[in-house]
Amino acid sequence: MSEIRYDRLFDRHVIIAPERLHRPTNQSNRVERRASQRVCPFCEGNEQLTPPEIYALRESESFANEAGWKTRVVPNLFKALQIEAPYRHNYSFFEHWDGFGAHEILIDTPQHYTSMTQWSEEAVINWLKTLRQRFNDLKQDTRIVSLSLFKNEGVEAGGTQPHSHTQVIAMPIMPKAKRQQYEHLFNYYKEYNSSLLATMIQNELEDEAKRIVSANEKFTAFCPYASSYPFEVIISSQQALGELGDFKDENIKLLATILLDVLHRLKKQLGTLEFNLMLSTPPLHANTLGAELFHALHASSRFYIRIAPRIYKYGGFEHESEVYINPLAPEMAAKLLRESDYV
Ligand SMILES: [Zn+2]
Repeated sequence: MSEIRYDRLFDRHVIIAPERLHRPTNQSNRVERRASQRVCPFCEGNEQLTPPEIYALRESESFANEAGWKTRVVPNLFKALQIEAPYRHNYSFFEHWDGFGAHEILIDTPQHYTSMTQWSEEAVINWLKTLRQRFNDLKQDTRIVSLSLFKNEGVEAGGTQPHSHTQVIAMPIMPKAKRQQYEHLFNYYKEYNSSLLATMIQNELEDEAKRIVSANEKFTAFCPYASSYPFEVIISSQQALGELGDFKDENIKLLATILLDVLHRLKKQLGTLEFNLMLSTPPLHANTLGAELFHALHASSRFYIRIAPRIYKYGGFEHESEVYINPLAPEMAAKLLRESDYV
């Protein structure tokens, strides 16, 4: 069983997860790896090759664990955390939690698409609706305080299964990076009485919109002023729409449209697009950060999606300093993406 260990030296957490050793990516023999992937467990018709589903968006007449789904959520076979583990915090110098949490795989589409750039708009909408459902379902469990929703597409980005999928990891602890980010947003809000992301988009617009990639009524896509990665894009709302769990269907549709637009532009500009995509998820319960901050969440933060194309490998300097060296100015990246009109 895994453990969430507290790293006292660097004041953060690490998941020690022996089960992850058996993932397909760790088979060093490429031939063996190819053979084991000949039958794709994520394709429609192969439902028996995954653990029983947790949730699926289905056509009304289809049954669980059979064909007829649009998106499907299953427990990760090589899970880092499991909901069946004891919910137990072990205090000592070597402090840890037993490996409690959730590690789910969202199979994004029944088709064997290897890239999100191949999806239809309807597929993106279904994907967002499924993430909304998982967000709201996992939030019901008060033992879970932090949720991560992300996609790794391509080997450079850490993807191990070629069939498009998304990961959902729910933890009983608040990661240091997330805690610091939301405290930072809250402190800005207290000082200026406005949301930092809303102000950022406003400033981007006023600064000749040179880092803006595209926009619609609710969302703006831009290359952040201090992008860590070449062609990094953030899609955010300037208005308070709540978090993903609160999104109305009309906003899901607008988000799907701009997300697909940005992905197509990136694909056209980069050719091979390997990336990490992260959806912002706020702390789920007041007790983890203090009630004052929690109640100001909607006012102080905005939902956003961050797309980080993986073009260069990062090494010791970035790990040690958390200062990224990005060889491409975001102004140039945004200009190239604006010109990559794929229509
Ligand atoms: Zn497949």
